Amino acid sequence: MREFAGMCWLKKFGRELVLIGLGGVALSGLFACREPNAIQKETRFIMGTVCTIQIPGPPAVARRAMAGRRAVREAVEKAFARLEECDQKFSVFIPSSPVCRFNQQGIPIDDPEIVALIAQACEVSRLSQGAFDITVYPLVELWGFYSGKPRRPAPEEIAAARGKIGWQHLVITNGQVTKKNAAVQIDLGAIAKGYAVDAAMQVLLQNGIHDALIEAGGDIFALGQRNQKPWKIGIRHPRQPGLLDTLEVSDRAIATSGDYEQFFIADGARYHHIFDPRTGYPATNLMSVTVIGANATLADAWSTALFVLGLEKGMKLVEEGAVRAEVLMLTSQGRALSSPGLKTIPGP
Ligand code: ADP
Ligand code: MG
Repeated sequence: MREFAGMCWLKKFGRELVLIGLGGVALSGLFACREPNAIQKETRFIMGTVCTIQIPGPPAVARRAMAGRRAVREAVEKAFARLEECDQKFSVFIPSSPVCRFNQQGIPIDDPEIVALIAQACEVSRLSQGAFDITVYPLVELWGFYSGKPRRPAPEEIAAARGKIGWQHLVITNGQVTKKNAAVQIDLGAIAKGYAVDAAMQVLLQNGIHDALIEAGGDIFALGQRNQKPWKIGIRHPRQPGLLDTLEVSDRAIATSGDYEQFFIADGARYHHIFDPRTGYPATNLMSVTVIGANATLADAWSTALFVLGLEKGMKLVEEGAVRAEVLMLTSQGRALSSPGLKTIPGP
């Protein structure tokens, strides 16, 4: 782990910079810096958040011998359709989704794609010793983050919700997910957006696009290059205007979890939407965690897991190799620390 000297280089990179680090609805306008040569850049509201696909300008397209604008448009359309498909499968809000039916009626999940994602989530739970747990649904609901009316519940209510939580209650056998405890409900909110980004990225690749930036609510995949240079990604500071860091990446996923995405203040304390399943309260050690890895599914899951684990335990897992990614953490006291392999763009 190393101390990280954050700085704000927004002016330096001007229009080239892509900003991340702000989830949910507030994401709109993140691409404040317009891509002058973009032949296709589109934003849609999917999975309860802002999703953007950007294909860089003509030089890259010519280099990859693309069939032209229409082919790019079709590929982007298919990638958005894939994001929509992920929403239909993983949503806790769409009554017909397999996840909703599992939660409300106890109907086993047998869609191979969902079963595989739940298995991946359980592996992160195991490695993080339960800091990451998709059975947190009763807590997210209790604290009012789904109703849009967040509130601080009474300790007895929190204790009751905690009784329904535990990823070990999920059973994955013969290609099916069932639950040992009927009260258990799952919430893939900390991993599904990353998965959807990976899935959309695969669609672009299958359709001949090798350079693109795909984003869903703060989870990014930077595919290939932007006009023959790595993508430049700015990570927002959770409390101040400007940037915590700037990264140059190619074929890398970047996911950020923070206490500034969905939160409310009560009696001077900040309560947000990432819960420590062991206490039933929002995790308090960090302001934000950014994970840079090979795939967005795991970057998404680990950004949430490390956020709950906090600096010491989280960095230990990273240094032991369990996470297989680079990370940047900002403590609640404002200290920025990164894993040794994290490469940032040199300051001005
Ligand atoms: P965001 O989705 O806002 O980008 P995250 O990826 O960190 O941020 O996911 C937060 C969501 O994950 C919460 O809204 C909730 O649905 C779910 N969640 C909260 N705490 C946990 C946890 N400890 N483990 C797994 N999922 C969680
Ligand atoms: Mg996450």
